[in-house]
Amino acid sequence: MLCPACNAFAPLTPRCVRCGGDAADEGRLDDFYGPYAPYNPIDELAMGAAGSSAQPHCRHAASCPQCGTLFTVSVPLWPL
Ligand SMILES: [Zn+2]
Ligand SMILES: [Zn+2]
Repeated sequence: MLCPACNAFAPLTPRCVRCGGDAADEGRLDDFYGPYAPYNPIDELAMGAAGSSAQPHCRHAASCPQCGTLFTVSVPLWPL
């Protein structure tokens, strides 16, 4: 399994959860916050919205240049 956004196969173009504008991919959430970051409650919302399917996701951080909102995006992994 691999993440299309991490591997530049498909650019991640997240939409801002607040204003609906084009947000920017900030990379993997683990890279963004670091491996020892405290649990992020926003991520739980993102995962809940995506459903509790068994399909693995790569979690990315995204930021909106318009309103400055930081949120998480769950990218479905591609099977190899
Ligand atoms: Zn990724
Ligand atoms: Zn925004």
